[in-house]
Amino acid sequence: MAKAYSVRGLCYYICYSAEDLATHFGVHIQTVREWVRKGLSPIDNNKPALFMGAAVIQFINALNDQRKIATAFNEFYCVSCHHAHTPGQNTIELKQDSGGFIRATGVCSKSGIRIHKCYKMEDLPQLRKKFTVVDTLRLYGSGNSTLNTHISHSPQQTDFMEQMTHEHA
Ligand SMILES: [Zn+2]
Repeated sequence: MAKAYSVRGLCYYICYSAEDLATHFGVHIQTVREWVRKGLSPIDNNKPALFMGAAVIQFINALNDQRKIATAFNEFYCVSCHHAHTPGQNTIELKQDSGGFIRATGVCSKSGIRIHKCYKMEDLPQLRKKFTVVDTLRLYGSGNSTLNTHISHSPQQTDFMEQMTHEHA
């Protein structure tokens, strides 16, 4: 699997620029920007962005944990269970992400938290085969088909939908 990033040498109380981090981890600056999109927060909204060492260390440790675990096509890494498993009800919501990716979101049936995974556009047919897709509204070119009207209203399904809605609020 992918190599782990080493946080050795980073200081909790030092602020780093994106360039500093790119140099430290030996990655492209674009990768650092991707980390920001994934949840690495700068200390404020000023430009250029600065990152507190403590936040970087925490983020990278979590990232390493995720990368360590190889997920099967239909498994999502769950931060609550600390391992990969399939989404509850085998049901996912799809959303078009930037750069031609699809962001799939499901719910962990044990903890109720949302679990995410990115797929490529070409994975779409496979996703539809493997999962019950409940929301493709924001997926361009999917024609928003009739998928949404096919959701069976079993009590379990309703629970799931409610969870999803609450999380949106
Ligand atoms: Zn879980």
